[in-house]
Amino acid sequence: MVTIEEALKIIKGQQVRPKTECRKLKDCLGYSLSKDIIAPFAMPSFDNSAMDGYALCGIFREYIIKGEIAAGDTRQLELKEGEAARIFTGAKIPENTTAVMMQEKTTVIGDKLLLEQEPREGQNIRRKGGEFTKKQVVFENGYSITPAGIGLIGSLGIEKVDVFRKPVINLITTGNELVAPGKPKGEGQIYESNSFALAAACEKYGFQCQGKKQIEDNFEAIKAGIKDSLENTEVLILSGGISVGDYDFVKQALEENGVEELFYKVFQKPGKPLYFGRKEDTFVFALPGNPASSLSCFYIYVLPLLYKLSGSPKNGLEHYAFSISHDFENRSDRPSFLKARIDTKEVAILNGQGSSMIQSMALGNALIFLDAETSVKKGDLVECYLIS
Ligand code: AMP
Ligand code: MG
Repeated sequence: MVTIEEALKIIKGQQVRPKTECRKLKDCLGYSLSKDIIAPFAMPSFDNSAMDGYALCGIFREYIIKGEIAAGDTRQLELKEGEAARIFTGAKIPENTTAVMMQEKTTVIGDKLLLEQEPREGQNIRRKGGEFTKKQVVFENGYSITPAGIGLIGSLGIEKVDVFRKPVINLITTGNELVAPGKPKGEGQIYESNSFALAAACEKYGFQCQGKKQIEDNFEAIKAGIKDSLENTEVLILSGGISVGDYDFVKQALEENGVEELFYKVFQKPGKPLYFGRKEDTFVFALPGNPASSLSCFYIYVLPLLYKLSGSPKNGLEHYAFSISHDFENRSDRPSFLKARIDTKEVAILNGQGSSMIQSMALGNALIFLDAETSVKKGDLVECYLIS
């Protein structure tokens, strides 16, 4: 048995070799860069207008209008003192432009332009290199690509991006009692739901489960299923059969497949019978079968490894301290992750904390971490791990 801190240290301390690939820009959201992005040119790459209005030469209240420049125009226009050109947002400003005046502050009479006020030098001009210069590192290796990041990379004319590959994930659920949703359920049976929840949790954080298998509580079948799934998998997630019951065969089946145990059992609630192991470059998590335990273990333990394997700088769920809206006593002798809901600035622990109860998790948006046998008072700050 290890503590939560020890378990996380073991997971986060694993030596991994994230693999790289080159992806189309449109398919890069949530991926991490495997190389720096260096600006091939300055941004903006030419002085341009920040407004629809008039490019002005010299500081006056009156100008003569000479021509028009739209965005994308390549003509070179040169202004002389007292001259103005109609210009539109993003258009290259003419040579000798002192400032651009927004059109709302101008009046046009024939070819004359009258201003409400004198322009300020440089006003409404976006200067070449104002955002960054040529050869500047725009994003460093490891940057996790956001929608804005995609926009910026595209604006540099780059359409293929070097990123870290996401790990190949496979799922195995075990249990004689499990029936797939949509099929009739007999006496004593329950619907298999963990694979759906776990696959969805992977997807929520930008990972994909390649495949899933359902295996009955039979040692040989589980052993063969694990053997097969270990091939070409980087993270194998099992659910159920890892506890101490007579039909819990997963641990032994992993052992017999040459998986090295890195820890088994974590001093926590829920999710005590959590297993983590490794065979070469394949990592194995065996999660307890209880639905809330398995998902809680995914969030706290599996996700950090998925991030690490994908070269991400993130190392788990985001977490912040929020003030609790009520008194609470954690009577458990184990440190606990409690299903909770943050509303505006306060967090409340929800009813239905049992390991099998997933409705509270579905309605909540956080897990509160509380030490064993600890009391908190309304208004105290508690650590909340965000799950939505
Ligand atoms: P186990 O960890 O196999 O002892 O299972 C603990 C509890 O979780 C039992 O009540 C199981 O029926 C339930 N359970 C196990 N696997 C699943 C699953 N894939 N979906 C839903 N419930 C499960
Ligand atoms: Mg079972």
